Amino acid sequence: MSIKTQNVSKLYGSQRALNQVSFEIGSGEIVGFLGPNGAGKSTMMKIITCYLPANSGQVEVCGLKTTEASLEIRKKVGYLPEHNPLYLDMYVKEYLGFIAGIYKLPNKSSRINEMIGLVGLEREQRKKIGALSKGYRQRVGLAQAIIHDPEVLILDEPTSGLDPNQLVDIRKLIQDIGQEKTVMLSTHIMQEVEAICQRAIIINQGNIVADSSVAGLKSMQKDSQEILVVKFDSDVNLNDLKALKGAQDIKQVEDGSFELLCAPGKALREEVMTWSIDENQPIASLSKKEMNMEEVFKQLTS
Ligand code: ADP
Ligand code: MG
Repeated sequence: MSIKTQNVSKLYGSQRALNQVSFEIGSGEIVGFLGPNGAGKSTMMKIITCYLPANSGQVEVCGLKTTEASLEIRKKVGYLPEHNPLYLDMYVKEYLGFIAGIYKLPNKSSRINEMIGLVGLEREQRKKIGALSKGYRQRVGLAQAIIHDPEVLILDEPTSGLDPNQLVDIRKLIQDIGQEKTVMLSTHIMQEVEAICQRAIIINQGNIVADSSVAGLKSMQKDSQEILVVKFDSDVNLNDLKALKGAQDIKQVEDGSFELLCAPGKALREEVMTWSIDENQPIASLSKKEMNMEEVFKQLTS
């Protein structure tokens, strides 16, 4: 196990940021740590990276306890903090040299050049960090996180504030790097998890509310309530559809097209088909609505 947390709680004064958080992340996994702002994501990551102590519970990274082996753990972990605190007055190479020095890496300059190539900073390598765009600063942040070849990468909202092109590039980069490492990345964006991760751990108000494969989460529907999407050939009146006893809620999407929330235990699909024949309103299409992760997330955290 690369990361193992057991009943971790953290209080800031009287405010509880983490409540009995337990999860495990296996070696080589890319896991999304998903939750709204204030959920406790950064706090958990700071505890894993030994920057903050927990009030109770236990965290192991690569089999080492954070309370006993923080220096050892820091050598095995690469961390990109949320507000990536880069030194804006430093040159890219100078900064990476500084970080390489902290880790006492041998062959510093070849390692720095390797990192610059890996994260795509060749053209920016002679600039000051302050002169770089947010996307390139994140690349510098990633380079410093992996320069000592850690086994585990902890990335706190690595794509926040990036424009759409930068976003795609950084996600791709994380996926590439993630092929050989364990990656835990936090985000409040569902699509990010769908794009990069195999698994998601969802946290809300300091509590883990779901821990599942991305595929499993998509199929997770509270109360197993289905939404049917039906499109009629002609312009059916919403009021006429209220005759359907199996529909708990009806939403008109466009003319002749509706979303029907199935009442638990009712065979709504059959009822709709019977209705369409009885009322002579032919159906153009009838399908189950696929919940996207956004909707699953809303259900889980509401
Ligand atoms: P996230 O990263 O998911 O947005 P955080 O871990 O930053 O969440 O914060 C979790 C909760 O703890 C929030 O309610 C936040 O206001 C609070 N918090 C975070 N850091 C501190 C701090 N240094 N002092 C007091 N409260 C904090
Ligand atoms: Mg945060």
